[in-house]
Amino acid sequence: MEKETNVGGATVSEGQSPKIQKRTFIKRDFKKEKRAEKGNASQGKGLQVMFFGGVGKIGDNMTALRYGDDILVIDVGVGFAEPDMPGVDLVIPDMSWLKAHKEMIKGIAITHAHEDHIGSLPYFLDDVKATVYGSKLSIALIEGKLREFPKIKMKSQAVNPGGAVQIGCFNVEFVHVNHSIPGSYALAITTPVGVVFVSGDFKIDFTPIAGDTTDLSRMGELGRKGVLLFMCESTNIERPGMTMSERVVGQTLDEIMDSHRNNRIIVTSFASNVHRVQQIMDLAKKYNRKVAFSGRSMINTMEIAMKIGEVKFDHKQIIDIEKADKVKDSELLILGTGSQGQEHTALDRMVKGEIANIKIGSNDLVIFSSSPVPGNEKSVTNIINQFIALGAKVIYDDLSDVHASGHACQTEFMIVHKLLKPRFFIPMHGEIKHLKYHEQFAISMGVKPQNIVVPHVGSVVEVGHNYIKELKDVLAGEKIVDGKTVYDVDNAVVKDRLQLAEDGLCVVVFGVNKNSGKMVNLPELIPRGFIYPNELGSIVKEARQVVIDAVNNAATEGEKPDWNELKNTTKKVLTNLFFKKTKRKPVIIPIILEV
Ligand SMILES: [Zn+2]
Ligand SMILES: [Zn+2]
Repeated sequence: MEKETNVGGATVSEGQSPKIQKRTFIKRDFKKEKRAEKGNASQGKGLQVMFFGGVGKIGDNMTALRYGDDILVIDVGVGFAEPDMPGVDLVIPDMSWLKAHKEMIKGIAITHAHEDHIGSLPYFLDDVKATVYGSKLSIALIEGKLREFPKIKMKSQAVNPGGAVQIGCFNVEFVHVNHSIPGSYALAITTPVGVVFVSGDFKIDFTPIAGDTTDLSRMGELGRKGVLLFMCESTNIERPGMTMSERVVGQTLDEIMDSHRNNRIIVTSFASNVHRVQQIMDLAKKYNRKVAFSGRSMINTMEIAMKIGEVKFDHKQIIDIEKADKVKDSELLILGTGSQGQEHTALDRMVKGEIANIKIGSNDLVIFSSSPVPGNEKSVTNIINQFIALGAKVIYDDLSDVHASGHACQTEFMIVHKLLKPRFFIPMHGEIKHLKYHEQFAISMGVKPQNIVVPHVGSVVEVGHNYIKELKDVLAGEKIVDGKTVYDVDNAVVKDRLQLAEDGLCVVVFGVNKNSGKMVNLPELIPRGFIYPNELGSIVKEARQVVIDAVNNAATEGEKPDWNELKNTTKKVLTNLFFKKTKRKPVIIPIILEV
């Protein structure tokens, strides 16, 4: 097998508009690889860790452990589209290798229900019938998500904190951790070669809103017995200190609400941050405010969380958003989606005046109880500016402690490294810079440099009692989801969109005599998106002339015209001319009428 991964991608450097680079792809012969793989099933005798996503970028987390003929899949997440994929909603890991080996998949363990860990399940479970294991809330949220995919029947099992299940040759224990969604787990997996500890996304919150602190004593026990391999998230590895407790957010919001009693309050947060929403609901009650939910994902998530008892509040407290204008400003709190500045969300619609009964003005206090996900900084700043321009007061996490990250900082990483004392280490859940930083960090915590592997998408790492080594890569990469269908990243539709967006288009219509091949109706040109008005006249005039010349030159007396060749000639001469004049290569659409 040759090592093949997607090369290239979009790069954005500071102070520069996004530069779109064309991706280059190397075609893989998947059938051949599968034959090779089958003939070479025991590629080694150790445990194999396979990375299908989540390393080298934040998003689409998906990892597999394989021992002999048993595969355990850990998380099946989505990623977000890059700037060179216009119109694409989601990116998912290329799961074709796993699908081709589906009979070996004994189960799917979910660490928690964030989209970057569960979002690709609908595109995996359509083919793979293995049972999905996770917390009660994770399973409930996945079930909610799958309602949009009625053909998929999921087998699932909810596991309590500290519970364990046997999945093939793996004994998987679900260890309670704090994160920005309840029901988050690390996994302590006993394998035939030793214990593998997968951190999931975590922080250590000594004053959590509900439930316990991350199960440090269990980590200590595991460390004393011996952890062979530690696989740890790396999101905030560069940040010193401890992550702020969720409780501090509640105290800050309390102070803000106390000092803004007459304002109408609008709060936005991540819909899945159930305990944050709980704190906001409790404060609304304290300050005698009715709560109106706005945004579908907020309503769905709260309904599910309420059903399984993760949140508790008085139904009388909630009013329909349609009735929001019937309530005095001082007695209303609107809780909406759109903290990332995304279009068509509750906040976006409010600021654009699209929600008829909510007009933003100077008596509004808008609280962003969230932080921008990397890549969204610009859209968040944008929406904050729009609220301020309408006269609202806006509080966001740079100004006040209205948000706490769900991810550990360095002190917390030190604690878990010291408790687990692993022999081998693999950083995950991060961009390359986070993974490399975590490598050095692990060395400073006592892991031997030769005992660490920094993986990339497609990496296969083999671990035995006394060794860790990289094997040949497995087929991996990204696919895109457009609507609900999965395509290759380099498909023609996206390429066309990219070309249309970058270079515009030109329709050219003319008539040709079907016997002589000579032009009879002179060409009409309709250029869009690549010629500025001051040059339009001269370029169009020249373009018409090159088309007339090309068509008439191609005509041969007594021969019928070749329509395809005429189309291609037209495209070629226009592409050349437009490139010479504008340095752009618009999509050319010739329409030739037979006369
Ligand atoms: Zn994550
Ligand atoms: Zn997460």
